[in-house]
Amino acid sequence: MRSLPVPDRDLEERSLRARTEPMAVTDFGTNIYEVRTDSGTYMVDLGAGRCTCPDHHFRGARCKHLRRVAIEVTEGRVPPPGHVAVECRDCDSEVFVPVDDVEDGPHYCPVHRVVPGDAVRDRETGHRLVAVTHPARRADDVSIPGTDATVADYRTNREYDPDEPVVGAVYPRARVTAEGVEPRELQVYSFPRSRLVRVDPEPERTPDARTSSAGEPRNRDRREENRRDRDRRDRADA
Ligand SMILES: [Zn+2]
Ligand SMILES: [Zn+2]
Repeated sequence: MRSLPVPDRDLEERSLRARTEPMAVTDFGTNIYEVRTDSGTYMVDLGAGRCTCPDHHFRGARCKHLRRVAIEVTEGRVPPPGHVAVECRDCDSEVFVPVDDVEDGPHYCPVHRVVPGDAVRDRETGHRLVAVTHPARRADDVSIPGTDATVADYRTNREYDPDEPVVGAVYPRARVTAEGVEPRELQVYSFPRSRLVRVDPEPERTPDARTSSAGEPRNRDRREENRRDRDRRDRADA
């Protein structure tokens, strides 16, 4: 048997103050954060575990500023070291991107990000598809096979910005596997990114489910999708 360690009062105190005292943390890029408090402004180097405050400087303490920055990073309010905040292309929420990847944009928040395998709906036709490529090159830079038109030129895409990134998608029955798209000969269609709306994957249908849903108006699905889109937007705004 042994007794539990006696809590270090100073340590508890610092943890509590790190969380409860008003501080404004600003990301300065790479590992440096500015922490503004009522009693002064300090610079924290999170990677090196250093702060410019007297508590850290004279006592070598893991001060409340260092702790606060670590909390803000963990809770996603400021970018982690080596990352910077950029705006999502489709909304004004922030995305944390590794410094080296910033130029490879556009970047998307989790709500608007489309990754291979995501179920999407074509706004123009209402068709469901499965995304097979990331948003990448611009719509006016990707040509449609067998034509001399670009995705941006295409008749039904003229309402979309020519600088939109293009997403490749296939009609269902196709599956995305580690080997790529199956079946292989499947046609991949290119869409301006915002023409596609991310939707929930189609549930696996049992024969019973198919029977009971037969004859129900398609609008119901549409309403359900609209509701989900709204929920996603609300979550993104929160
Ligand atoms: Zn400090
Ligand atoms: Zn977004």
